[in-house]
Amino acid sequence: MKQVTDYFGCLVFNDKVMKSRLSSDVYKKLKKTINDGKELDISVANSVALAMKDWAIENGATHYTHWFQPMTGVTAEKHDAFISPEADGSTVIMEFKGKELIKGEPDASSFPSGGLRATCEARGYTAWDPTSFAFIKDKCLCIPTAFCSYGGQALDKKTPLLRSMQALNKEAVRVLKLFGHNDVTSVKTTVGPEQEYFLIDKELFDKRKDLIYTGRTLFGAMPPKGQELEDHYFGAIKPKVQAFMNDVNEELWKLGISAKTEHNEVAPAQHELAPIFATTNIAADHNQLTMEMLQKVAKKHGLVCLLHEKPFKGVNGSGKHNNWSMSTNTGINLLEPGDTPAENAQFLLFLAAVIKAVDEYQDLLRISVASASNDFRLGANEAPPAIISIFLGSELQAVIDSIESGKPLKTNGKTFLKIGADVLPQLPKDTTDRNRTSPFAFTGNKFEFRALGSSESISCTNIMLNTAVAEELKQFADELEQAKDFNVALHTLIKRVITEHKRIIFNGNGYDESWIVEAEKRGLLNLKSTPEALPYYLHDKNIKLFTNHHIYTIDEINARYEIAQEHYVKVVNIEASTCLDMVNKDYLPAISRYTKKLADTIVVKKSLGVDTSFETDILTKLSSGLTEAYTTKQKLEDTLLSAKKITACSELSMYYREKVLPLMEELRMIIDGAENDVDAKEWPVPSYGDLLFGIR
Ligand code: ADP
Ligand code: MG
Repeated sequence: MKQVTDYFGCLVFNDKVMKSRLSSDVYKKLKKTINDGKELDISVANSVALAMKDWAIENGATHYTHWFQPMTGVTAEKHDAFISPEADGSTVIMEFKGKELIKGEPDASSFPSGGLRATCEARGYTAWDPTSFAFIKDKCLCIPTAFCSYGGQALDKKTPLLRSMQALNKEAVRVLKLFGHNDVTSVKTTVGPEQEYFLIDKELFDKRKDLIYTGRTLFGAMPPKGQELEDHYFGAIKPKVQAFMNDVNEELWKLGISAKTEHNEVAPAQHELAPIFATTNIAADHNQLTMEMLQKVAKKHGLVCLLHEKPFKGVNGSGKHNNWSMSTNTGINLLEPGDTPAENAQFLLFLAAVIKAVDEYQDLLRISVASASNDFRLGANEAPPAIISIFLGSELQAVIDSIESGKPLKTNGKTFLKIGADVLPQLPKDTTDRNRTSPFAFTGNKFEFRALGSSESISCTNIMLNTAVAEELKQFADELEQAKDFNVALHTLIKRVITEHKRIIFNGNGYDESWIVEAEKRGLLNLKSTPEALPYYLHDKNIKLFTNHHIYTIDEINARYEIAQEHYVKVVNIEASTCLDMVNKDYLPAISRYTKKLADTIVVKKSLGVDTSFETDILTKLSSGLTEAYTTKQKLEDTLLSAKKITACSELSMYYREKVLPLMEELRMIIDGAENDVDAKEWPVPSYGDLLFGIR
């Protein structure tokens, strides 16, 4: 049997392959591009392309593609074969040039652009991100690329992510210089995204239009058992699921993705996969690939992987935890508290930057996780509330309190009072989730942002986070660079930040009702839904943030805002249409047929003088349910028709949230009620019991 160490990364044009296949001169120039962002000249690109092509062909590839992440949130690829005709007209050679490596021109006019690109100039271009390695997937050499319009506007999620990493890099290096780290030339953010998902039987999936069209169940009565026994969480993995996980791991390892942890999650049929963390843009690429592999491999096993945030009502939905930190090229994790007063002081300054960033840009973090599907999770006692706050833990809280109050903190015979002079008390390394209810928790040497939805790209969250922290670091550097006494200025600054931004810190239970009241008192935002959150995109302070750091132009922000609004409306509209389709074609006819059977039975039984109280009761109940469902579905149809009159996108998304979704829910309640009374054999779709407990 082949060992993991033998095949890990075998489908990746990684550093090892580059070293062995490129001349040392070309290798050095490429590394310079990768490390310092230097532009690649065409002769170097030609050599790299040639080596890449030969390597790819030896590994079975016939095509290449510029692999990119348009604003749809999924990845896009258009394959081109390497073949090129020979002069004789009957044979081909395999060709791949430097210019094809560094730049592509997909005719990508159908991707959402939010008005950034008129159709007459529809063609955008893709440009290689050499910091993310090329890889082979399905016989195709995939080159990770950024996607821009000819005007240079970002049409994707990678470009702004790279820009945000650049912004943070610049400011963090400035700050580190003040601490005497002249050897630090770059700071990169790192991310380890934990991915949750559901697995269900493919045959059952195929019988549910809601799952097929929307990724979630729009109907379904609760089975006798849900997740109340908590017997699934970390439980023994079923052989069928284990076989799937083994295959997924193998595929991911071949792609150089360090899939590390796998386990059963809280809800029945729910699981999780976590990789070892990586540089953010690579982590984002890897997470997209992971989601794709989960879905692909599931099909091979007769299963379907549901990445939707809330596939089933009544049991937990799926999220994605974004473990985030910052790391220097010299190997220092900037959120690692360290052991010496100097290391501690530096840690506290970066911590202060995160606290200030999360407080001032809570709206942007909320927007970064806002989607129609994630709206079902946030604040529903299974995921953090829609209120953004930070958990520090009691030990770090004590430190913060001591800095703020000026009262010394005494632990284990040691005293902490002055930043830069005293050693911090030992802070616990968190291996367990100490406070699962917090959206943004400090876990020993990193922060874990837990509000992300399972199906979302992690790019948006990290763009917001990187940029907000970059802004705070910039302000800190501006102030500290002018300081006469660095340590005094540092202490003053950290103390001020804590005093001004402590409202964002909350160590209690985020699921508690009282937190909502308390958060409001503190002036924290509680943006319950996507339509409520999105308008904050366009607030002055946010536009300033993005434009000052060259993450987005005003046009690029407007485009993203509009795309998000439109996407929300489209998603809910598809759901509502699917809901009507199922009610009209499946549920109402099935209930009607069953009531006829009951009526026939009643007639026969009555003629024999037999008691019919069961049949009569159920018939009466179902018949009135049928009428109620019929009128509610008509209301929903009318409501959808009226939506056509609304033109403003913010008004329209709010209309879908406030008018359409409640009617869908009303209809669902009636149908789910009927499901409990109808003969299981007559029910037109597989039940929750089948779906959630079907894999045995
Ligand atoms: P848990 O959350 O279950 O306690 P860990 O703390 O080991 O698990 O890590 C969770 C995730 O955080 C993993 O993907 C891990 O690689 C990632 N992680 C660990 N250190 C860092 C870091 N410095 N930056 C970003 N992610 C990290
Ligand atoms: Mg975790």
